[in-house]
Amino acid sequence: MAVEKTATLSQKISRRKSSERTLRLTEIFYSIQGESSYIGRPCIFIRTTGCDLRCSWCDTEYAFYGGKKWRFEDILAFIQQWPCKLVELTGGEPLLQKALPEFAALLLQNGYTVLVETGGHRDISVLDPRVIKIMDVKCPGSGEADKNYWPNLQHLEPKDQVKFVVRDRTDFDWALKVIDQYRLSEGPELLFSPVWGELDYEALAEWILQSGIQARLQIQLHKIIWGPDRKGV
Ligand code: SF4
Repeated sequence: MAVEKTATLSQKISRRKSSERTLRLTEIFYSIQGESSYIGRPCIFIRTTGCDLRCSWCDTEYAFYGGKKWRFEDILAFIQQWPCKLVELTGGEPLLQKALPEFAALLLQNGYTVLVETGGHRDISVLDPRVIKIMDVKCPGSGEADKNYWPNLQHLEPKDQVKFVVRDRTDFDWALKVIDQYRLSEGPELLFSPVWGELDYEALAEWILQSGIQARLQIQLHKIIWGPDRKGV
């Protein structure tokens, strides 16, 4: 009898834990990856709700508030409708949610390649080393450069990516100094992206070529395909 009671209690605890394993999400969708070295590939996007930064050029303000709680198992079941094993956890700021590292690990267990796109101001060492981190370093033009969490840079590997969103030449020169100071050329892939509608691709392309930096010029392909205001793509 005592054993039965214990088993029941443990089942209840297990059930409660399972139901507590949730993420607050703004949207889940299947599209073409518009950024990073995975650009052009079909990808499932899971967008978490909430961000503690306010970048001047943010294009996902609709993810700051609201959202809906999703249980891990419901997310897994939902994304199985698509013939794709590449998933990006994005936001908002995904690492604001305590359960996110556990969910990323669950995706890995289920055979997914997992990208986590983060603003770079929260500790990335909480993520499974197999997760591919796409981490912003916020330039001065974002208004949030003082929030960069510099110890993150030591956790990046060659498979990971560092993204500089560049508003102007001041941002570009600042990024070059950061790359030099932290020897980033020897580590993760470097991405340079112009602030949409403010800096044209050609100017940034010229700066990259002139500087000799071995970085990837990144365009937001999804905005070129579907337009800058379309959500869920
Ligand atoms: S970190 Fe991302 S979601 Fe948050 S304000 Fe900056 S661009 Fe927007």
